[in-house]
Amino acid sequence: MFVWRDDLHVPAADLWLDPGHRKARAFVSHAHGDHIGRHQQIWATKATAALMRARLGPLQITELPFGEWCDVGGGCRLRLHPAGHILGAAQVEIVRGSERLVYTGDFRLERSETCEPAAIVPCDVLVMECTFGRPHYRFPPRSEVVPLIAADLRAVLAGGGTPILLAYALGRGQELMKLLEPHGFELALAPALHAMVKIYEEQGVRFGPYELARPGQTRGKVVLVPPHASTSQLVLQAQRPVLIAATGWARDGAPPYRADRSYALSDHADFDELLRYVTVARPREVYTVHGFDEFRDHLRERGIFASPVTARVVAS
Ligand SMILES: [Zn+2]
Repeated sequence: MFVWRDDLHVPAADLWLDPGHRKARAFVSHAHGDHIGRHQQIWATKATAALMRARLGPLQITELPFGEWCDVGGGCRLRLHPAGHILGAAQVEIVRGSERLVYTGDFRLERSETCEPAAIVPCDVLVMECTFGRPHYRFPPRSEVVPLIAADLRAVLAGGGTPILLAYALGRGQELMKLLEPHGFELALAPALHAMVKIYEEQGVRFGPYELARPGQTRGKVVLVPPHASTSQLVLQAQRPVLIAATGWARDGAPPYRADRSYALSDHADFDELLRYVTVARPREVYTVHGFDEFRDHLRERGIFASPVTARVVAS
């Protein structure tokens, strides 16, 4: 039902899925920078539409609630399912004749504090995001990780330092705010993160107290900063800054983003969740986006056809 032409394409409906280039008709799974674009006609959830417009300006978007079928032409209809990744993130299920295709976009199965729980959608053909498709990317439950992060933040503050929590401005940052809410920290947010929090609030997500972080005025506070801003004035002017990252890449050993230390907390599925998705969805064929060759080997050992999505260059 689909083909790879530098991007993921469903020819019957002339519909592109998360294309990296400007297209006439595109489904956008969520509002992270590597998924959005100024396409002519876009299908997305209401929250993704709001986040996209905040980042890109006015766009022609058909906003779809989860679970509602929509005819997209060429004998194809589609509906969206929650992906559990960030606010608004959706998987798309496309049906044509007797064939059912699911494209997950970025997803995570563990419960999120800021978005709807992910669905596992039974299908014939599964195109899935596999960023952490290696066995050593098994993440502990958040109920174990968050108390460790909170204890670390408290220890830094008690020692007169300023904990700088490195988290993406869209998604991870808001999730950490909610996860840390019961611990009662004073939170100061970098401007990019603060701007996205405002859109989450417009979409109905509620947060505890927080403020916009100002350079030199962060003493006694936990400061949330996007990783790319780890050398910004907010960090440079903080009193004895200690950089702490929350990311799946923490499993690789040395902390990423020049952080002093890191904790395994991600908004992507870990290895076990990837396998669970395939086991429950029972697709005939799996096509992987991102990740490692060995995840496909794990699927093939289980008798499942698995291929990188980029290898699918012939239309069916
Ligand atoms: Zn994403």
